[in-house]
Amino acid sequence: MTDSARNTSKPVRVRIAASPTGKCHVGTARTALYNLLFARQRGGKFILRIDDTDVQRSTTESEQGVLEGLRWLGLEWDEGPDKGGPWGPYRQSERLQLYQRHAAELVEKDRAYYCFCSPEELERERKEALANGRMPRYSGRCRALSRADAEARRQAGERPVVRLKIEPLTMSFTDLVKGRIELDASLMGDPVILKSDGVPTYSYATVVDEHEMRISHVLRGADHTTNTFVQLQIYEALGFEPPEFGHFALLLNPDRSKISKRTGAVFIGEFRDEGYLPEAIVNHLALCGWNPGTDQEVFSFDGLQAAFALDQCSSSNAIFDRSKLLWLNGHYIRQLGVEELTRRTLPFLAGAGLVPSEPPAGPELERLKAIIGLEQERLKTLYEAPELVTFFFRDPDPAACLELLKTDRFARKHTPDELKRALAECAAALRELEDSSWTALPLKETLEGEAAKLGWKPPELFMPVRLTVSARQATPPLFETLECVGRSATLRRLLAVAGAP
Ligand code: GLU
Repeated sequence: MTDSARNTSKPVRVRIAASPTGKCHVGTARTALYNLLFARQRGGKFILRIDDTDVQRSTTESEQGVLEGLRWLGLEWDEGPDKGGPWGPYRQSERLQLYQRHAAELVEKDRAYYCFCSPEELERERKEALANGRMPRYSGRCRALSRADAEARRQAGERPVVRLKIEPLTMSFTDLVKGRIELDASLMGDPVILKSDGVPTYSYATVVDEHEMRISHVLRGADHTTNTFVQLQIYEALGFEPPEFGHFALLLNPDRSKISKRTGAVFIGEFRDEGYLPEAIVNHLALCGWNPGTDQEVFSFDGLQAAFALDQCSSSNAIFDRSKLLWLNGHYIRQLGVEELTRRTLPFLAGAGLVPSEPPAGPELERLKAIIGLEQERLKTLYEAPELVTFFFRDPDPAACLELLKTDRFARKHTPDELKRALAECAAALRELEDSSWTALPLKETLEGEAAKLGWKPPELFMPVRLTVSARQATPPLFETLECVGRSATLRRLLAVAGAP
């Protein structure tokens, strides 16, 4: 068998073939992204297919999860189970008759045969092979059955599987990522294509669907590279022209172990809950296995569409570096307009009970935007927002603030009693400011005046005020912070610590 023919003139149609047997994995998302970029670059179509022939493990909930995950990332498909399209249905479980019909044709053409071997017999053969140091594979025993015998056994109620007759050839194809790959097919056993219940196996259903759905390029993870040889034999047996193939290196942790839950989030929903932005994840995934050939690390979707190239995809090196993702996330957070950042942060703030879950409006919204705007520089994930902004909504515990005053290097210059007196004086001075002049500049002037009156260096007063109002060593600039905390809360907090036992 020779290299697959180049389908350069065919319209580009690529697909993500998702198994709905779990949540939306970053690996699936990356494959979807690369396919989508490839389709958009070539004016082609991106198809979402649901590989749900594993009846035991496939669930509707998981299918929904995959769709939601990809959609949240902005990896929208042109055809799919929820959208339809010219070559649907797009769920394999709804295409069983098609697979059965093609399998019957293959038996008819003598490219496939019924196999009646029981699981026990197969297991015995497998063990024997292993014991004798041979690679276990199906012996091909049922190849020898005559069609008449096989038919008679089927009529008598036996339920065989269908196996493909593998041609023992030296095979090769040119992978768009990995280059030329060869395999000696005489090492393969005859694979099952249709199980005894009429459900197809993965490789077989995939081939039928690629053909029926006019897929021009199959771009997927490297874990499917060897399956491609079985699939090429199926194409050949069915008389279908194969698409082109490209296999991306699997995602690895920086220590080159396979990416797994053990080392952090692996599902898109987890990243969302951890406060990552879809823009950052897409940017990061693009760079996990594709090398732009420059130092550029920040890519918008349009930038990726312009720059992505299959021949710059690595065949062996796809590191998923979470620290890089975190860095990118901070970058994208800083790029957002404050209104948009506030909108995206809301579910996290509502989840922490800091704001009601219905979106605020009017002065409430303006205040929230001011608060988020103050923290924007420091935010690396949306998840961190509630912790950073809690003090804008809730008074800290005065006893805890007093403890902080005892250890802070500026506050420690003065005794707790001196500090309490100074805070009470600050409260008295600040009370003179009306609500309307409770803004950063008058606040600054008032507190600078108090420091001068006390004869203290400014930080010796400002730091205790900051700790008293926020119970945090680091906040956004103090006067803007006090402005957002508000007049009554600031005065209340200063007096609470000033009067604390
Ligand atoms: N359902 C398969 C998977 O999720 C698809 C593999 C393929 O793209 O052919 O691994």
